[in-house]
Amino acid sequence: MGELVNLLDLERQDRGIERLEQLLAEIPVQIEVLESDLQTKRSRLEAAQAAVAKAEKKRRSTESHIEANQGKAQKLNAQLMGIKTNREYKAALAEIEAFNKKNSDLETEVLLLFDQLDELEQERQIAATEFEGFAADAEQRISRRQEQAAVLEAEKRDAETSREKIAEALEPRLLKRYEKLRKKIGNHTIAQLVKGSICGGCNLNLRPQFAAEVRRGEKLHYCENCNRFLYRPESPDEADPETH
Ligand SMILES: [Zn+2]
Repeated sequence: MGELVNLLDLERQDRGIERLEQLLAEIPVQIEVLESDLQTKRSRLEAAQAAVAKAEKKRRSTESHIEANQGKAQKLNAQLMGIKTNREYKAALAEIEAFNKKNSDLETEVLLLFDQLDELEQERQIAATEFEGFAADAEQRISRRQEQAAVLEAEKRDAETSREKIAEALEPRLLKRYEKLRKKIGNHTIAQLVKGSICGGCNLNLRPQFAAEVRRGEKLHYCENCNRFLYRPESPDEADPETH
């Protein structure tokens, strides 16, 4: 039953290659998740930075507005002495008063902006700490995944070379049958006889006469239901229905 040993060996290699391919396929997905998390945290930091900058700009423009108003009020104040009529004098005083009132509102606004800036700055620092901490870790994890991929690729190439050797040693007719079945049902083409009369692949009961032939284990059989290679297990308990 050297054929069986080779077949089992071939399938073991194919399963190994399949497993390596699954692991390799997961790596880009894992990297993508890390990159997307990184992007989310980067965006949060950028939004926090932009909010600080916006509030800062608003504060500066409000302060220069206050300065301009002060300048205008001072200028009016200096002109008061030269005003001839009472009506004009009153009007100028009212204008000065209006600038002062406006500035009082603007100063309140500046105080609120300072409070807001404190909060925004705190938020920016949290976002920065979080991003920097995560970025260092994520970049390490990404490069580790890339290294893993290179190792898995090498393992896969080795497994494929071994597989080729085993396939070449196999009888072409058997190999062809194996490949055909494998294309249909994947790397589960070989089954054991279970409880003396059941195909371990499809779990169906075999004809008694056929099951008896498989139990004798003189040659390789194919399940009459599912077409899998069928073989007698090593354990006599499993092979002999009388013990069940
Ligand atoms: Zn079967």
